[in-house]
Formats: sequence, C-alpha cells, structure tokens
Amino acid sequence: MGCQEMALLLVLTGLVSAGLHLPEPVYISSVCDVQRHCREVLLENTALSGLGHLYQDLKHRVSPAGLAKFEQVRAAMDCEWTSTSEWVLAQGAAASSTAREAKAIQKDITASFGHRLMQQYVAVLGEDGVFQDFAPCGKHFKRCPLPHRDQYYQGMRLKMHVAGTTCLDYSSMGLSRKEMGESGAILAIWIKQRLLSLEDAVIQECTPRFDPTVFQEFLGEEYVIIDMGVLNPPQFGWPASRPRRYVVFLRKKTLRLATTVKQFVDGMSFFYEEVHHDSRIFLCAPDEEAILPNILIQL
Ligand SMILES: [Zn+2]
Repeated sequence: MGCQEMALLLVLTGLVSAGLHLPEPVYISSVCDVQRHCREVLLENTALSGLGHLYQDLKHRVSPAGLAKFEQVRAAMDCEWTSTSEWVLAQGAAASSTAREAKAIQKDITASFGHRLMQQYVAVLGEDGVFQDFAPCGKHFKRCPLPHRDQYYQGMRLKMHVAGTTCLDYSSMGLSRKEMGESGAILAIWIKQRLLSLEDAVIQECTPRFDPTVFQEFLGEEYVIIDMGVLNPPQFGWPASRPRRYVVFLRKKTLRLATTVKQFVDGMSFFYEEVHHDSRIFLCAPDEEAILPNILIQL
C-alpha cells in the first residue's frame, strides 16, 4: 500500500513546485505494506524521511481471537456458499441454461454471500478488544499507535488516507473469489479502520473488477462515496498501462463538494495528457543485457 502514499506525495510536491500554495505542510503519518521489500524501499526513500510509522500486515490490527473468529465465519459461509452454488448450478443445468448463464448465476451468488460475509467480519471487528489500538511498526520496532488514536493525526488540519486495497480476489490474474476470498477479510479491516479514524478524505484504488458498491453499507453514512471509474497512467501522459478503479470518499461532516458529483468526476479530464512519442528519446538495453545466454548468439 505504500506506493499510493508515495504517489500522492509526488503529486503534491509537483503542485507546490508548479506554484500552488498549500496551507499546511504535507506530512505522511504512516505507510502500510505487507511486502517486506516495499517497506525497505519506503524506509530508504529520502522523500519520506519524515515518515511517521511503517506498519506491516493489516491483520496485525486484529486480536488473535478476532482473527480466529474471522476464520470461523468464513469457513461456515464457504460451506453454505459451496452447497448453494452447486445446487443452483445443478438446477440451472437441468433447466438447460448455457454455461454463460450458469456462470452469471454463480457470480450473483458469490456477490450476495460475499456481502453477508463482510457484514459478519465488520460485526466481529466491533466486538470488545478485537480491533487493536497499537500495531507493530517497522520504523520504531515497537507497537505504535494506529490512526484512530488521538495522538496520531494531532495538529493536522486535513486528515487524508490513501490506499490500494488487496486485489488478489478481484484481479483477472487472481482467484476471482471477491469478498469470499482472503481479500474480503483484509477489506473489512480496512473499512473498520476508516470508521474508527474517520479521515476527512480517502482515496482507494483496486483492480478494474473491484466493485465499489460494497462500501455503501459500511461507509455510506459517514461519507459521500464517489466512484471515479477506471483510470490509467497513459491518460496522464505516463507510458505504462496500469488501469485501476479509483474511489474517493469525502466525509459528510467536514467536506462538501463545491460542484456536482458528475462535474467532480468529469473534472479529472482536466489533468489528461496525450503521450507524444519522440524518437530522439529512445531507450535501448546495452548489448551485454540484451544478449541472453542460449537465446541469442553474439555474432
Ligand atoms: Zn512507529
């Protein structure tokens, strides 16, 4: 998840260097990334020298008893889902529905079970002592306060959170189990953290297959939730394709859109840039890198 914080920092730094006046100094209070290598890169990044905390797995925010309950509710739901899914598919086949129709039915079932499972996760996280106040920090090598602790956002006028939530179960390369998979548990912890810390603005991104409607039930009371759709770096002049679905959350109590939601979403096109390829800039690997043993033979 650290890349998103880094990207935001670069954008804000760019805006300041372009002459935009930001009323408050930008301070990255923490990053969280499950990958050890990503954490090492983030710690070594000089632009992040003032980084507050470096958390690891989101699951560290949940007590062992809470995680055990997660496993229980997931196993029970998985059992029910499998039998229902198989039963419906068998019925569908008997009614001579096509494979495509059967798949669509299965997709609906997965979505409804996934939603119920998320409700159960969030309920577990609301139980006494389940959601922790401190988590292991890779910067201070001790348990540091999480974003809902008073001292965490102290002195900041605008509290903002940026995240790329786990995409394993939403990616076409992944398992496609959506909330029924491992990603659902992680997403529930992320949602609960937002409900506890109540930042003014949140940006979340995931793969294009992610369905943001899952947020409405849990965060819709506190936030205006805006689906920005799928955005890709080439739209902004960056020659690398990485389409991702973005969602913006604005806290109803503290922020208000000065425009309509449609104007806000359409306003993104103001930042679009066309990529102009220029043959004067041409990157080519040196011979020693381009010639691989047993694949190319040097003449
Ligand atoms: Zn720390």
